Amino acid sequence: MKEITGLSNRVLEINVTDQTYSVYEVPYEDTVKYLGGKGLALKLFYNRFIAGTDALSPDNIIVFHTGAYMGTGAPCSGRFSAVSKSPLTGIIASSSCGGPFGMALKTSGWDGLIINGASDKPVWIEIDSGGAKFNNAESIWGKDSDYTQNFLKDRGAGTIAIGPAGENLVNYANIISGNRFLGRGGMGAVLGSKKVKAVTAKGGEFKIVAKNREEFKKNRSAFIADINKNEFTSIEYRKYGTASNVKPAIKNLMLPVNNFRDGTHPDFENITGEEIGENHTLGYSTCKPCSILCGHKGKFGDRVLQVPEYETIGLLGTSLGIFDPVAIAEWNETCKLVGIDTISAGATLAWAMEAGENKIYKTNLKFGAADLVNEILEDIGYNRGAGTELGKGTRWLSEKYGGKEYAIHTKGLEAAAYDPRGSYGHGLGLATANRGACHLSATMMSLQAFSRFSYKFRIMGNAYITMFMEDLNFAINSLQTCQFTIYAVFGERYLTKYLPGIIIRILNLIIPQIALQVVSVKHYFRTYTSITGIKLNQYKFRRCGKRGHLLERYMNTREGITSKDDTLPHRFLYESRTSDKKNRRVPLHKMLRRYYWYRGYDRNGIPKPSTLKKWGITIP
Ligand code: SF4
Repeated sequence: MKEITGLSNRVLEINVTDQTYSVYEVPYEDTVKYLGGKGLALKLFYNRFIAGTDALSPDNIIVFHTGAYMGTGAPCSGRFSAVSKSPLTGIIASSSCGGPFGMALKTSGWDGLIINGASDKPVWIEIDSGGAKFNNAESIWGKDSDYTQNFLKDRGAGTIAIGPAGENLVNYANIISGNRFLGRGGMGAVLGSKKVKAVTAKGGEFKIVAKNREEFKKNRSAFIADINKNEFTSIEYRKYGTASNVKPAIKNLMLPVNNFRDGTHPDFENITGEEIGENHTLGYSTCKPCSILCGHKGKFGDRVLQVPEYETIGLLGTSLGIFDPVAIAEWNETCKLVGIDTISAGATLAWAMEAGENKIYKTNLKFGAADLVNEILEDIGYNRGAGTELGKGTRWLSEKYGGKEYAIHTKGLEAAAYDPRGSYGHGLGLATANRGACHLSATMMSLQAFSRFSYKFRIMGNAYITMFMEDLNFAINSLQTCQFTIYAVFGERYLTKYLPGIIIRILNLIIPQIALQVVSVKHYFRTYTSITGIKLNQYKFRRCGKRGHLLERYMNTREGITSKDDTLPHRFLYESRTSDKKNRRVPLHKMLRRYYWYRGYDRNGIPKPSTLKKWGITIP
């Protein structure tokens, strides 16, 4: 079998309108600057996308990129990214997935895939090292994601597909690959608008090897050793998955209950990771390859289903007042089959329940009542009845009916399941995240509430730490290793492991600019260097993330984003909760100005021309 060393630097570019394809050779300079994965996907998108293009027009583009780790056996390297313009938010959407398509694409000889144009009739696309073949998809159009993936299972080693929701242009339709998703921002609707039901990649045509095999072996072993030492990655997540976050979320009053009206509930013990693990979990169901193994399947009633992630438990469960793991697992499955994001779906239903209580929106949905939820999720996916409007998301509904003060979104993206009134830094991170209210952009809830790396109710320090984490997470997503590795990479360093927590918190409060520089992230860049031969150190590595974050921000400002959009739902800024005796609200505006200053944005949140120039971002 032929070998590819690290990256092939070849991207397959498909035009669905005239069913043609071409090969794009990625310039070396772009790889050095953006690394791969999310970073290169964004750069490829930037080079082609005309600002202001409608997300569902044939001129929107969707770019997939696998990254350097994919195929090498590096830790948690089964992930790939997609970038497009979101129909839900109207700005740049990015998402990461651990399904088999990434490996199949890369071992077919392609680092990435670009799809533009739109077909008149439904198609599915078959990729191998020679290019793309277009097939009629009328027989699977309208079918759910299980049927579609089963239908195509012999046609390639990995598939991406949409369910009915993508075909029906539901604003938060997802893309499935195996049991994993490109979940956020409605990229399923982008594929649906192009009439692309699925893409398969043959896979297995090339072997992916590291440039310096000995170094790679050494780096990989050291990386995995830390993953296997760390409590989060080797015990909590491996045993209970992300559902293990339920207990710390409750402890820190961050679990959304009844549309984030409260942070706790007497029935929460029913849906903890430990409870689900002991009573339901049967085994692993993970991204591949993975060294942490946070994904599980389990028995729920008489069905074997995916164990719901923490976010799904929070948004599709507790935020609807539901604490029944069987119901949540079944609704999770329904979302998978019809192809919708569980976070946005849950948040939209929670808005509907509260709007119904307030009599501004007619619905029979009620907090704590499970009976109608499954039906309405199907209606959203199949674009029926009330589901048609609910499929447009929380922002759209609150603009039509009112109830903006309890529409829990930022920039149109429904918030993840951590209430920022339990961590001010997390609040800043939700407000500044490029794709909307995303917990994975800065992951400040992990640093402040779960690991006490910095003070959760202080203002000082947050602006710098948020920026630092956004840049680092962007860089990690450009390698395409799982973000959960950061627990091991941060947590197993001598300084962070053995220095008393109070000292770390004080340093991060007063001098985060210095304190954070000494935390080594060597596993990430050393592994990358041994795979590609591209020399990196931790400053260069983080700078790649900073450049990517800035480019994404700049692209968003071209779509109209300013400081007015870097905000939080009214509820987080102005309402307190009975469970919080101190009545805390997020003091966002005190942190935001400083954040802009660190970022090199002007007062309106727009990157200054000098900032763009400094980072080599050229304005077309
Ligand atoms: S830890 Fe979980 S999310 Fe990360 S790669 Fe492994 S299975 Fe996927």
